[in-house]
Amino acid sequence: MSAVTEATGTFLRSLTVSDTVSGPLTADSIAGAAYIVAAVLFILSLAGLSKHEKARAGVVYGITGMVIALAATVWLTVQGAWGTGPALTGLVLLLAAVLVGGAIGLWRARVVEMTGMPELIALLHSFVGLAAVLVGWNGHLEAPALSPDLMAVHHAEVFIGVFIGAVTFTGSIVAFLKLSARMKSSPLMLPGKNALNLGALAAFVALTVWYVNDSQLWLLIVVTILALGLGWHLVASIGGGDMPVVVSMLNSYSGWAAAAAGFLLNNDLLIITGALVGSSGAYLSYIMCKAMNRSFISVIAGGFGIAAPTTGGDADQGEHREITAEATAEMLANASSVVITPGYGMAVAQAQYPVAELAHQLREKGVNVRFGIHPVAGRLPGHMNVLLAEAKVPYDIVLEMDEINDDLGDTSVVLVIGANDTVNPSAAEDPGSPIAGMPVLRVWEAENVVVFKRSMAAGYAGVQNPLFYRDNSQMLFGDAKTRVEDILRAF
Ligand code: NDP
Repeated sequence: MSAVTEATGTFLRSLTVSDTVSGPLTADSIAGAAYIVAAVLFILSLAGLSKHEKARAGVVYGITGMVIALAATVWLTVQGAWGTGPALTGLVLLLAAVLVGGAIGLWRARVVEMTGMPELIALLHSFVGLAAVLVGWNGHLEAPALSPDLMAVHHAEVFIGVFIGAVTFTGSIVAFLKLSARMKSSPLMLPGKNALNLGALAAFVALTVWYVNDSQLWLLIVVTILALGLGWHLVASIGGGDMPVVVSMLNSYSGWAAAAAGFLLNNDLLIITGALVGSSGAYLSYIMCKAMNRSFISVIAGGFGIAAPTTGGDADQGEHREITAEATAEMLANASSVVITPGYGMAVAQAQYPVAELAHQLREKGVNVRFGIHPVAGRLPGHMNVLLAEAKVPYDIVLEMDEINDDLGDTSVVLVIGANDTVNPSAAEDPGSPIAGMPVLRVWEAENVVVFKRSMAAGYAGVQNPLFYRDNSQMLFGDAKTRVEDILRAF
């Protein structure tokens, strides 16, 4: 932190020196310097967050940058406020908003369950979208006095900002509803959905040109409604299996919405921060699409070109077999190699501690135990890795899907703990499935598979899982934590 303070000091001193030539040190130049320091800290934060070992430092950089940015903004307001009535009101309102918003944010962050993080993030994205819409509307209602050329630029900023903000707002609300199971996760398949999306985009371009030439209020109302509908439809059309990509895509949209608001507010830091969030979110979406064997363009265009699924419904899959915890314990005791593939159910049951103990006891017995982690298991990128690290499972036995998949055929027992979509064979074998083409853990190739779950219900993508009916699969019903503890007792 001292390095940061020093950097700020050096920067301010350099400003002072140059200002002896070009003018006095103003509130604007001090805030500008603080914004540059904050922007550098945000970049360092992103760099830190991309590596396990540096993630904590990345979070500290991010928090410090945000504190500096907020302090500089309040400082600018204070400069304009002393002794002037309306600006003082502005300052009081600003501080009240920071206090109320900060208190609610702190409370939500403290009480949120790890499994509830994606929906909280989606909700937060919706606020960024809404803020961009409000800033845009304000830009229309309180338009500054500018030359005709600059006014055209201003109007383009207003229109584009409102459009991106409104798409982000309703898209994030739908993502929140889907992630919190308040809305079905299966894709909405309206007839001509691609034509609808393309039509909305074409209408937006035409309306922008119109508004730039003739900034009538009704055009802004129309584009707001159009974008709200488009955001809703884009995310509603995407199936549960693609939701991880949607979350990072909305993250990207919220960044561009913030950047658009930055242009309108003439705030360089908001432009830089928005662009950072927008581009890193877009890149994360791209990497996730590659890992999930999905077309980036298709996902960001609301499932463009994806045919309606033809299978995966409630068709009869045959009979399943059940197993007890005692019989599972015996099977494990006789196994030479065991692979554990955890999923969202392990997080819900908070079963990571007994699972870690099970792995430990089996290793003591000389069994080769490893974990196989699917990139989108759970509800957050890295969700399973975090839980297993929390339970002190050694890193070297936690393998990525690509590292373990080829070994599954030589494995005595696979324990599927609360995973479903990420081990669904229909992704690999059924081209008509809604999750067709998504890479999955090929657990069905093992000698024996034991599936821990509470019922025969489908996973997040709402797709039936033929794994449960395979000859080498047995179901161990009940809460995953209780069942693993039963196995430990049976040892
Ligand atoms: P799924 O969500 O497909 O399935 C989880 C399973 O856990 C359910 O079938 C459920 O069955 C079972 N379960 C729930 N609670 C318990 C419990 N207490 N004890 C035992 N079992 C339980 O999980 P996966 O991890 O395999 O797949 C993740 C899915 O989430 C993918 O579709 C992915 O695309 C999506 N997703 C992932 C995100 C990410 O970033 N990782 C973000 C958003 C979505 P039952 O009810 O019968 O117990």
